[in-house]
Amino acid sequence: MGIVVQKFGGSSVADVERMRRCSRWVMRAVDAGHRVVVVVSAMGKATDRLVELAEEAWSGPGTMAFERGEGGEVRVKPGSGPPRREVDMLLSTGEQVSIAAMSIVLEAQGQPAISFTGRQIGMTTDASHTRARIESIDAGAIRKQLDAGRVVVVAGFQGVTPEGEITTLGRGGSDTTAVALAAALGAEACEIYTDVDGVYTADPRIVPNARRIDWISYEAMLEMAALGAKVMHPRAVQFGARYGVPILVLHSQQEGPGTLISERIEGMEKIEVAGVAIKADLGRVTLTGLPNKPGVAAAIFAMLADHQILVDDIIQTVVPNGEGGSAVTVSFTVEHSDLADLPPVMDKVLEAVGGGKSTIDVGFSKVSAVGVGIRSHAAVAAVMFRALADAGINIANITTSEIKVCTIVEKADGERALRAIHDAFGLGGG
Ligand code: ASP
Ligand code: MG
Repeated sequence: MGIVVQKFGGSSVADVERMRRCSRWVMRAVDAGHRVVVVVSAMGKATDRLVELAEEAWSGPGTMAFERGEGGEVRVKPGSGPPRREVDMLLSTGEQVSIAAMSIVLEAQGQPAISFTGRQIGMTTDASHTRARIESIDAGAIRKQLDAGRVVVVAGFQGVTPEGEITTLGRGGSDTTAVALAAALGAEACEIYTDVDGVYTADPRIVPNARRIDWISYEAMLEMAALGAKVMHPRAVQFGARYGVPILVLHSQQEGPGTLISERIEGMEKIEVAGVAIKADLGRVTLTGLPNKPGVAAAIFAMLADHQILVDDIIQTVVPNGEGGSAVTVSFTVEHSDLADLPPVMDKVLEAVGGGKSTIDVGFSKVSAVGVGIRSHAAVAAVMFRALADAGINIANITTSEIKVCTIVEKADGERALRAIHDAFGLGGG
């Protein structure tokens, strides 16, 4: 039997009682003949408290600004707050506590176990503190312990640079540790134990009849995560996809089939809407009267990238300018958190492209249907637009990709739109 990696999140190891319950899954896999690697997060809200400590030591609450990385992870914004090397030194201590406690819990039940920090298993990352990326893992140290019959308990979220500096992978990064380890060890599967029993067709707090999904492809899961579904850290799913590691999301405190995230099953032609997702608080920037010539879009988006503004849903249209020629309109969405930085950047953009006007509207939500083979089936879009029309909801923008159809609607209509689409695809249970 092969290796299984089991990851337990902060709420699943919040106290010793819960750790004992988690240890049942470890013992069961061991009894079934697997070699088991356990990855744990810091206990409960320990990391939050360490963040608060760093802020307090620096100057006061709220001084450590967070941002969302391209992988969707939450990380400390560079240039703000306390020195990020020290933040990593501090935050990494949370997991050092939980690995030792978890190993003791296992030993107390007669299961030989050994805990390792990121450094001890050669979890090597780049030097971007608070947002580091994994570069390599020394699987040898872990294998040696597994061969000796021990369960290896590894600290999630932390790594070490080639120079020996402690790093962290961004908030929620233990998922990534687990999947990366599973890849490095050639594990059969990576089981993510959490406080929900799987991935849902929609956020159950917004859509009460949402159902657990049995299986979802990596791609669809990534889309769901990018659109706001928070079950798994997106970077972890990317790792899973890249190395073909099947990921099973399970409830840590109760028995259940969970949700399998894996490669698309060959020959699966059936189109399937896996779920619907919503992302609120989007602003829309519209640039009108731009010159219709090569290089304009390139100039706009290069400048936005330079200012680290994440843009989404870009639409360009060419319209007659009333003088026999034509002009270009470009619109795109940005998150509200980026809006404050926008006006000066847009002024620079218009100056660089030689004319035009920019307007910024706020208060939109993106509501999307995600699944396999969606784009090739016009019916999916038709069902979705009909559902919105019947609910009297106006669509401000539409974009599609291989695996999703997204609509931008007024924020006030967002949750109602989500429920309408969920129902229209018959995703609800019962
Ligand atoms: N303990 C870290 C955090 O809370 C990492 C994790 O939970 O995955 O962000
Ligand atoms: Mg956590």
